[in-house]
Amino acid sequence: METYGSFDVVVVGSGSAGSTAAIAAARTGASTLLVEKLPFLGGTSTAVLDTFYGFFTPGSQARKVVGGVADDVVAELRRLGPVLERPNTYGAGTGVTYLAEHLKVAWERLVTDAGARVLLHTAAVDVEASGGRVTALVLATRAGLRRVTAPVVVDASGDADVCHLAGFGYELAGELAPAQTLTTTFRVVNVDVARRRTIGKDELHALMEEAGVSGDYLLPRREGSDHITPVEGMMATVMTRVEQVRRQGDRVVNATDPDVLTEAEIAGRRQALEYVRFLRDRVPGYEQAALVALGTQIGMRETRRVHGDVRVTRDDVLAARQFDDQIGLCGAPIEDLH
Ligand SMILES: Cc1cc2nc3c(=O)[nH]c(=O)nc-3n(C[C@H](O)[C@H](O)[C@H](O)COP(=O)(O)OP(=O)(O)OC[C@H]3O[C@@H](n4cnc5c(N)ncnc54)[C@H](O)[C@@H]3O)c2cc1C
Repeated sequence: METYGSFDVVVVGSGSAGSTAAIAAARTGASTLLVEKLPFLGGTSTAVLDTFYGFFTPGSQARKVVGGVADDVVAELRRLGPVLERPNTYGAGTGVTYLAEHLKVAWERLVTDAGARVLLHTAAVDVEASGGRVTALVLATRAGLRRVTAPVVVDASGDADVCHLAGFGYELAGELAPAQTLTTTFRVVNVDVARRRTIGKDELHALMEEAGVSGDYLLPRREGSDHITPVEGMMATVMTRVEQVRRQGDRVVNATDPDVLTEAEIAGRRQALEYVRFLRDRVPGYEQAALVALGTQIGMRETRRVHGDVRVTRDDVLAARQFDDQIGLCGAPIEDLH
C-alpha cells in the first residue's frame, strides 16, 4: 500500500474536538495531519448545528469559563459575520450562535494557520496497533488506500472509530441504559420572528402535543425547540427524534450499524418535512416559512463509549472536579441523567 507519510500527530475526525486538537498540536510545533471523511471541517458543529454551549456556566448568571482555542474560533467567526449570544432556555448557559457556513471557513483558517495539514474526503478505515497503542492508520482517500504512521493518534471521530478498529474496549450506547436519540436539524426562512415571539416555549410544546394527538401530524417529539439565527427571519431547529437502538437477538445495535444509520437518515429527513408542515400550519410567525436546509447528516449524540483510563462521573461534573492531566474544560450541565 502506498504511504501518505509520517507525522508526529494524526487526528481522526475534525469536529470541535478534532479541529481543536489539531490546532493545539500544530501550535506546539508537532507535524500534524487532520483527517476528515466529510468535505469540510467541524463535524457536528458545521454539519448539524449552529450553536456552541459549554463556554458559559449554566444558571441565571452565565459566567464565561472556557477560553483558549474556543475564543479564537469565536473571534474568527465574528470576523466573518454576525454572531449571537443567546441566553439558554433549558439551563445550559449562554449559547454562541453562528452561521455554519462561516464556521467551516473559520476552522479551516485556524487549522491551516496553525500549520496542520488537512485531508478531506478521507476516512480512517483500518489501523495497526501494538501494545495497546495505534501506530499506523489505513486511510480511504480519493486516490485509494494510503498508509500513514504516527506515534500519537487522536481518535476524535465522535464514534470511537479508531478504538473500534483497534479492538479497544467500549460499550454501545443503549446496552446499559437508554441511548440518546438522533435528530435531523433543519432551517427555515421567511419567519416573522416578532410574531413567533408572541408565544413561549410551553405554548409551542402545547401546539405540538395537540397536533400530534390529533393524528394529523406525525410528531414523535413534542418538546423540540426553535431558535433565531444571525440571518433575519431564519430560524433553526432541534426538533425531530429518531430512535437509534434495535435489538437483534440478545445483541444491541445502534447508529454505528450501517443499516440503522441509513434508515435513521431517511426517517429523519421525512420527519423534518412533517415538522415544517406543522410549523407552517399551526405556529404563529411560520405561516410563510420555507425550508432552506436539512442538516448535512443526522445528529448523533452518542454511539460508542470507550473504556478509558478514568471515567468522569456525575459527581465529578457536579463538583467541577479538576484533573492534573485535563486537556479541556466545559461549562455545560449534564443534559441526560440516565
Ligand atoms: C442534535 C444535537 C444537538 C446538539 N446540540 C448542541 C448545542 O446546541 N450546543 C452544543 O454545544 N452542543 C450540542 N450538541 C453536542 C455537540 O454537538 C457535540 O458534543 C460535539 O459536536 C461533538 O464534537 P466532536 O468533535 O467530539 O464530534 P463530531 O462533531 O461528531 O466530529 C467527529 C468528526 O469525525 C469525522 N469522522 C468520523 N469517523 C471518521 C473516520 N473513520 N475517518 C475520518 N473522519 C471521521 C466525522 O465526519 C466528524 O467530522 C448536540 C448534539 C446533537 C447531535
